[in-house]
Parts: sequence; C-alpha cells; structure tokens
Amino acid sequence: MATNLSAAPQPQLTVPQFKESVLKHLHSTLGTYEEKASQQAWNQAIAAAINEFVYDGVSRTRKTHAGKGTRAVHYLSLEFLMGRLMSNNLQNLGLYEIADAAMTDLGQSLSDILEEEPDMALGNGGLGRLAACFIDSMATLSLPAIGYGIHYEHGLFRQEFYKGRQVERPDEWREFGSSWEICRPESQQTVKLYGYVETVYEQGQSRKVWRPSRTLRAIPWDIPIVGYGGQNVNILRLWESRADKFFDWDVFNSGGYLDAYAESVQAETVSKVLYPNDETEAGKELRLIQQYFFSAASIADVMRRYKSAHGNDLSKFAELNAMQLNDTHPAIAIPELMRILVDEEGFTWHDAWTMTRATFAYTNHTLLPEALERWPLKLIEKVLPRHMEIIFEINSRFLQDEVEAKWPGDDAVKRKLSIIEEGSAQMVRMGNLSAVGSHTVNGVAQIHSELVKKDLFPELNALWPTKFTNVTNGITPRRWMKACNPRLSSLIEKHVDADWPRYLEKLSGLKALADDAAFQKDYMAVKQANKEDFVKVIRELTGIEVSADAIFDVQIKRLHEYKRQHLNLLHIMALYRRLLIDPNYDLHPRVFIFGAKAAPGYRLAKEIIFAINKVAEKINNDVRINNKLKVVFLPNYRVSLAEKLIPASDVSEQISLAGKEASGTGNMKLALNGAITIGTMDGANIEIAEEAGTDNVVIFGMEVDDVEALLAKGYQPADYYRSNDELKAVLDWLDGDFFTPGEPGLLSEVKRNLIESDSFMVLADFEAYSEAQKKIDTLYRDKKAWARAAIMNTASLAKFNSDRSIQDYAENIWHIKAVPAKS
Ligand SMILES: *Cc1c(COP(=O)(O)O)cnc(C)c1O
Repeated sequence: MATNLSAAPQPQLTVPQFKESVLKHLHSTLGTYEEKASQQAWNQAIAAAINEFVYDGVSRTRKTHAGKGTRAVHYLSLEFLMGRLMSNNLQNLGLYEIADAAMTDLGQSLSDILEEEPDMALGNGGLGRLAACFIDSMATLSLPAIGYGIHYEHGLFRQEFYKGRQVERPDEWREFGSSWEICRPESQQTVKLYGYVETVYEQGQSRKVWRPSRTLRAIPWDIPIVGYGGQNVNILRLWESRADKFFDWDVFNSGGYLDAYAESVQAETVSKVLYPNDETEAGKELRLIQQYFFSAASIADVMRRYKSAHGNDLSKFAELNAMQLNDTHPAIAIPELMRILVDEEGFTWHDAWTMTRATFAYTNHTLLPEALERWPLKLIEKVLPRHMEIIFEINSRFLQDEVEAKWPGDDAVKRKLSIIEEGSAQMVRMGNLSAVGSHTVNGVAQIHSELVKKDLFPELNALWPTKFTNVTNGITPRRWMKACNPRLSSLIEKHVDADWPRYLEKLSGLKALADDAAFQKDYMAVKQANKEDFVKVIRELTGIEVSADAIFDVQIKRLHEYKRQHLNLLHIMALYRRLLIDPNYDLHPRVFIFGAKAAPGYRLAKEIIFAINKVAEKINNDVRINNKLKVVFLPNYRVSLAEKLIPASDVSEQISLAGKEASGTGNMKLALNGAITIGTMDGANIEIAEEAGTDNVVIFGMEVDDVEALLAKGYQPADYYRSNDELKAVLDWLDGDFFTPGEPGLLSEVKRNLIESDSFMVLADFEAYSEAQKKIDTLYRDKKAWARAAIMNTASLAKFNSDRSIQDYAENIWHIKAVPAKS
C-alpha cells in the first residue's frame, strides 16, 4: 500500500490568511459582521473557510479516480455515527492550530465555537461508529471508496431524564442546515416498490418484468471525508427520499391537490428517522423499505458510474466493484443486483450469480438471536415481489447444487441452511442470504469470528472452508486521540514522530518510558488535567460535584442486558452497603460514570437506567459516606460527549457476558487514552489484553466454555442469590423504598428479572467482578504501578487502529489498491 504520507499534515496557509478567509465568509457568505455575528455564524464562516480546501480535495480525488479502471469499494451501511466534523477536518488538514490562533486573534474561542456543531448521529452505537471510523481510514489510505447510507432527517433521539426515567426527544441535527453536505441533484435515482411481476413471452423466450406500483426519488447528499493529511477526500453519499414528481403529477392533475401532498409525506417518511433499536430487529415494513431504498439507489449509482466510464459492456463490473455489507441491513442488495443483471441486462442466471458473488462480502456483527434479521416472506413478497422470486431461485439452486452435493438426501441440513425458514409464518433469513451471496464473511474480533464458524454457520463453514475470516475492528486515532486528547497528543509528540496518528505503532516507543518517573509524572498530570476539565462538564450537565482525585470509573455504551450495566450497579450498591456498615471501609474514592441510551421499546433496559439514577440520587446525597462514592449518569451519551469523557477516564468497564460482545470499540478508545480495562474474556477485550499485556488489564469472570458448561448444567440464578449474603442483601434492597422513598417496589423488576431469568448471568459473575474491582482499587493506590499500566495501554494499541482493519479488508477481502489523489 502506498505510504506517501510520511509526515503529519502540513498547514496550507498562515494565521492571517485563515483569518482573512473566515472574515470574507462571515461578510459575503453569511451576510453578517464581527460585532454582530452569533457563535453559530462564526461556526458557519469557519466551515466555509475549511470547505475551500475540502471541496478542492473532493474534485482532485474524483478526477484521479474517474474512469481510471481501478477497483473501488462501496461500503453499504444503514448507519454512520459521524459525530461532529469540524475539529476532525481541521486536524486532518493540519489546520487546527492555525484556526485556533486565528480565532483568538478575532477575539473568539475556537473550542466554544466547535460546541455549536450538532452531532451527526445517524447511527445507534458501535456498528454505526465503526462505519464512521472506516470511511476515515479509507480516505486516509487513499483507497477508492464510497460510503453509502441514508440521509435521515432525524438521527438517534436526544435523551433526557425526567424523575430518573429516560425520555426521548427528536434529534434535529439539520434544523438550521449542515455545513458539510452538498446536494447532488444530477445524480438522483428512482427506486421502485410494490406492484406485481409479469411473465412476458418474446421469440419463444420468457422473461420476468416487474410492474411496480410506487416509485420514490432518491436524492444524494455528499459528505466529504477528509483523509489524514488532506490529500485524499472521499465522499459519504447519503440518500434522501422524496416523492416521485411524475407519480405526483397524476394525482395533482386529477384534482387531488391534498392527496398529492399526502403522497409526498409518505415518500419522505422513508428517510425521516433512524430506527433506534440496537442489537434487535425492528421487523417493520418501513424499515424494510429503508433497507431496500438505500441499497437500490446505491447499486444504481455504482452502475451509472460504471457505464459512464466503461459503456454498456458489464463484463468488468465485478472486477472493478467491491461491495461490503455492514451487517445484513443491506442484504437485499444481493437480489437487487441479480435483478438488474438478469432482468435488465440480459445475463444468464449463472453469469449473473458469478458476478454477484464476486462483488459482495458480508460483515457479521452479532450472534444474539434477537438481532439476527428475519423478514416475513409475505412482507417481502408484497413490497418487493420480484426480489422474493429471486430469493427463491437463489435458495433452490443453493440447496440443490451445493447443499445436496455435500450432504445428499439430508433434509435436516437443508432445513437448517435454507434461506427460507419454515413455520407458521415463513421467514427470510437475511444472514443466510448474505452468507450465500457473498464471497467472504467476516466476524469483527478473533473470538467472534471463531464463534461465527462454530455456532452460527458451522455447516456453511464446512461447505466453504475459506469463506469465513476475521477482521478485528479498529478506531481512528485521529478522532479518538489526536483531536479528542490534545494534552496527551502533545506529550506523545515530545517522544515519538509526529506522524503517529497515521502509524500508531510508533507509540510503542513509549514502552521504554513506562517506568520513567518523569514521564509517568507528565502522563498522569495530563490525565489529572483532563479529569479536572470533566469535573466541570459533570457539574454543568448534572449539578453533581465530584473530585478529580477520585477514580473515574466509566461504562459508556448502549444500554443492553448483555452489556450488563446492572452488574456494575449491583457492585456499586455493594460498595455503598459496605460503607454504611463500616464508615472506615477502606475504599479509594470512586466516581462511577455511566452514559447509555436504551431503545425506546426496551422495557428492562429503561428500568435499569431508572434504577441507576435512583441509586445515584441516594448515594450522592448521603453525607455518611464522606464523598467516597459518587454515581453520575450523564444524559444523552453520544460521540461528542465520548470525546470529552474518554481522555478523563481511569477505568474502562467492559463487562459483557463472555461470547456476547462481538468486538466492542469503546474498549479500544478508552484503553488508547490510558484507562485500565476491567473486563471479561469477550470480543476485542481478549486482543487488548494480548497487546497491552495481561498485567495491564484486569480480567475476570466466566469464559465462553464456562458459560456453555453452566448453561448445559442448567443455570439457576436464585442459587447465587441464596448463597451470597452480600448479593442477596443488595438485591433485596431493590424491593423496598430505600432508593424510592414512599414508593416501595419501583425497582423490583430489575431484581425479579435477575433472580428468575438472568439471561446474561449477572449473578454468576458477581463475585468475580467484585474481587476484580478490589484489584482495581489496590492497583490505583500504587501510583507507579497504575501509571505504568496506563502508559503500556497507550503504547500497545496499534493493532486497533482502524487503518489496520481497513488494510486487512483491502488486501484480503476487497483486493483493492491505494490510488493517491494527485495534487
Ligand atoms: C464507540 C461508541 C460506541 C460503541 O461502544 P461499545 O462500548 O463498543 O459498545 C457507542 N456509542 C458511541 C457514541 C461511541 O462513540
């Protein structure tokens, strides 16, 4: 891979020039002036100044790639959790310091102005954030790549707490427009829906013609993705749905003026809102339409670009185009490409199938059964009648030609592998469709990829032993260190080459300093300063006073039973109880910090939020415990909040039940910024421990084998409740009104669930977790040992650079090469 970026980005202009550019845009783009401009206007003026470079990069990169005959990758994802773009773009262009100085000269604060930018939260959690890190890395590595997704009008809901309970409010990220997107009406597409399939006979041949009854327009909005160094600027293309104007005019002309608007409202509903479910399938017709809408528009876009460069001969299509499915959400792209090749382009089934399989690869993100997408056959038949026929054909050929050849006469294996699940209502298994229609299937961490082969698709793995592989997830060090932790970045820069954000392995140079007293002092001073900053954030957001001398113990991720925030809660209650029993109980002061949104329809998750908030209220106001314990649940956890909290974190809670967290990426962000992981042998925790050294993380609890053995034996959570006095006491505490004065039983549902079902074995791991937390407490008191462990984490995380993940995909799955944009 070309590595022409040997140094950090060079600033392309001076402070006075940047100032001049901002003022020019303030006057002539925004129509205001220095004395009158709002923070928002300054923000827009800076964005306009930055965009002069960005758009120049976009056209330079496009020109380089256009008609080049180089293979490109198309990353299809229903979610892109981008966060804010301004500070990242400034960093990647090497303009941050320049802009900072320019704004100071103008009597403004760049960091305050950055706060004006709303998060672009077009995703739920890890999966969407991964897509965002990946497109940053693809641009940085100069790969010909496009991200494709949906231009949701409303991203993930804003979370507020009312009397301790989560309340969802609409997200308005585009209320006043966005500085970073550019509409490309010339590239709009039409997407068809519903209707019926006709068989047409011509010259003794029959062919299928889909007669859709509904069409939508797909309007592309392009977000420039600035690679580190600014040389390459790729795009993220997000589709907005609109009513098809031709369709509308019919209704309009026949006098149905209001009906025409009703039609438009329905069409625009498609890109209206992101489904807020993480790790559960929604099963709604609108969601299926969203999936098809962006898949079909994206394939049409790829097809249009191919034809404009190579004409109507599609024989090189698969050679020049790779498509990556980020989970099964875009799986309908597989039958869509088949439909285009067979029905519209006249390929034989065999040739079309060869091309389709050579084009697609699929990333699996979860083994949780509730998250594996299955659509009712009847629903696909109604919305996409031709696609349903194609799925039947894919399935019957797969079962007859491939499964029958391997396991002759074995109906049980056919039933298991079939894309169609039989039952009272037939269902289409999107995971099976994705695996059958792709040349490569990957999991997202070593253990997860092994479980995909062993537990999810064992027969498919036997059938195609080379199809399944692993690509461990990563995070971009530009956002998750360089931009979010300027203090640590400048300390690092005193000791390693300035291009470490590109070549993260250079941080291994810090290992030699892990025991150096002066470096330890500097490193921990950075952490302390970051914590002091965050004390203010906590105060502003919650009114809670905490001390920066306490251990900041952080669990930030979606609220889900498998992630086990309630295990953390039970341990907090146990510590509180110990302090009440013995006010001299030896505990280093600790602040437990949570950030988590629950899916609006996920009852138990919302009960857990409520319980944490109620326990927090009691603990934070109990003078008896002398401020040794604080619990902070930050509202509205999102990328921009993560960027402030992660640099200030001491402990990283990664406590999912072994086998359930596919990879995790929050674990990587926290470890890179020097937080010590307390975690189970799950997902990428295992690889983090391997890289950082097992002495520098605290691992506890059951492993996958233990979980399987306990399940086989028959898990009885009530046994743990009865046999551990402390566990029993804290669970019983949830029943009374201690935490909900005058209203007993409000928290009982959490207890009842744990004793009666406890699907994720919280009670079985409680004791081991509690012991592991004592190790954290002991380690933290040994200042040198703690500093050493934190430094070793920062110095050892190169593997989790998303550039490395993308390099793996590029070399082993996409087989594409870098094409650096020419200056
Ligand atoms: C990284 C990130 C996640 C994923 O966190 P996990 O701990 O891996 O689940 C979720 N949400 C946001 C805002 C993130 O930045």
